[in-house]
Amino acid sequence: MCDHGIAHCSGQWSIVSWGIYGRHKKQNCYTMRDWILFDMKQIWDISPEISTGGLLFPGDEPYRLNWTSEFSKGNPLNLCSITLSPHIGAHADAPLHYAENGKSFSELDILPYIGICRVIHAVEYRLLLEVMHLQNIPLPLPERILIRTYRQQPSAWDQGFKAIAPDAITWLHKQGVKLIGIDTPSIDPADSKTLPCHKLLNAYDMRVLENLNLEAIPEGDYELIALPLKLDGACASPVRAVLRSL
Ligand SMILES: [Zn+2]
Repeated sequence: MCDHGIAHCSGQWSIVSWGIYGRHKKQNCYTMRDWILFDMKQIWDISPEISTGGLLFPGDEPYRLNWTSEFSKGNPLNLCSITLSPHIGAHADAPLHYAENGKSFSELDILPYIGICRVIHAVEYRLLLEVMHLQNIPLPLPERILIRTYRQQPSAWDQGFKAIAPDAITWLHKQGVKLIGIDTPSIDPADSKTLPCHKLLNAYDMRVLENLNLEAIPEGDYELIALPLKLDGACASPVRAVLRSL
């Protein structure tokens, strides 16, 4: 760690502004290897587009865009408001979504949503991801696991999307996993009324990301960045989820 608080070769280069980089360079407290590592990082956007025709759980509030000021009506700027269920597109569920006294993101740490993750493919199994589907994954696991269940993301609502078996959530928790991401709208089946996996997330203080688009992502380890908005009292938040090469 140098005087500028920057940990070299740790992936933190991306948050170094050019101003700080200049001062940093002047004092020779970086190495060329650091800079090359930063420069070579690849980024994958794993967030589906949020549009008015976007997929959502039946009954959820769709995305709507309302114009309150428009150039075409002689106004000096375009100004809109939006309404949407926060469960549209790539999103993080807040614990208050599934626990009576759960917290919203204005009270929660963002650290689970940024850091090393592992993408695993589970496109072969039917309906539920069980512990037996996880046991070939090399250990130890990083604190974040993203599960790809679709070969190709559906273009219409899929009532039979794959979900996770409660035992698999417990197994992941025992391996030290703190965040589970999935490319479906929920880690519980669409018709589940008891939501056992969401209840386990609450019991284990784990976090979840849903509706990711992992279609183009090979299995392997990445850096995940998927920060929820600091929404007070909301049950979820949209995230712009990206992966970076390590
Ligand atoms: Zn959700």
